[in-house]
Amino acid sequence: MPSRFDGKVALVTGGGSGIGRATALAFAQAGARVLVSDVIADLGESTTRAIVREGGKAAFAACDVSKSTDVEAMVQAALSNFGRLDAAFNNAGIAGPRALTAELSEEAFQRVLAVNLTGAWLCLRAELPVMEKQGGGAIVNNASILGSVGFAGAAAYAASKHGLLGLTRVAAIEYAPKNIRVNAVCPGFIDTPMLTQAGISLDPKVRGALEALHAQKRFGRPEEVAAAVLWLCSDEASFVTGHPLLVDGGYVAQ
Ligand code: NAP
Repeated sequence: MPSRFDGKVALVTGGGSGIGRATALAFAQAGARVLVSDVIADLGESTTRAIVREGGKAAFAACDVSKSTDVEAMVQAALSNFGRLDAAFNNAGIAGPRALTAELSEEAFQRVLAVNLTGAWLCLRAELPVMEKQGGGAIVNNASILGSVGFAGAAAYAASKHGLLGLTRVAAIEYAPKNIRVNAVCPGFIDTPMLTQAGISLDPKVRGALEALHAQKRFGRPEEVAAAVLWLCSDEASFVTGHPLLVDGGYVAQ
């Protein structure tokens, strides 16, 4: 039976961990050849090996999305390995330190913006012309519920994700005539190393309080976000563009 992404090429940034890893694996299981990238080579290469072990096709490119030369080289690596680029998931992101707005250092604020917002724009800038030349494509940016609502202690992160939704909408409008769709996923709290590093997953009291903020009273799984990304990149979503798709267990609905 043909798979949804047979013959297609997908790129995933931050593909070595969490949501990015799950999405790279899902793209491969759906038949895509996958360019996995991550700032940490060990992690990204591990995802690439997992895809190949399961009989899929994947290549790795090291990329810090806040560096334009890395991003350009990553898109070129997709073309040199697989000859085209049909789908891109601009996923790489960092949480930054938890601090009140007036207590956040300028350096920390700028770094979160550099990775989460400028990084996604650098990816779009490199991906869009390739897709335009090819006659179309689909891009998904990984935003957050904090692209729509606030959260105390997350000024830089929320600013970056609100900005990312604006960027998504503008790119969607500009590139719709060129047959390129640009959307975003907006996950709630998802069980990934990002939450472990933030000290959330391992503290039952903190975890319980945050789970209670979701109508479904649990954190999401990376695979649940991956499924939404694949749908947005598939032909089934052919009339969907500029859309921020909540994958949040009802967090924002309340
Ligand atoms: P994760 O497990 O930490 O994965 C993020 C990956 O991106 C890591 O491999 C990370 O490497 C990499 N990365 C960090 N900085 C990078 C850079 N400058 N260039 C390229 N790669 C970089 O986190 P995750 O939860 O899967 O997060 C993925 C995306 O989902 C992020 O954009 C995040 O904001 C978004 N998100 C997550 C949640 C959640 O609750 N988990 C909710 C909403 C949205 P390192 O390990 O070196 O940092």
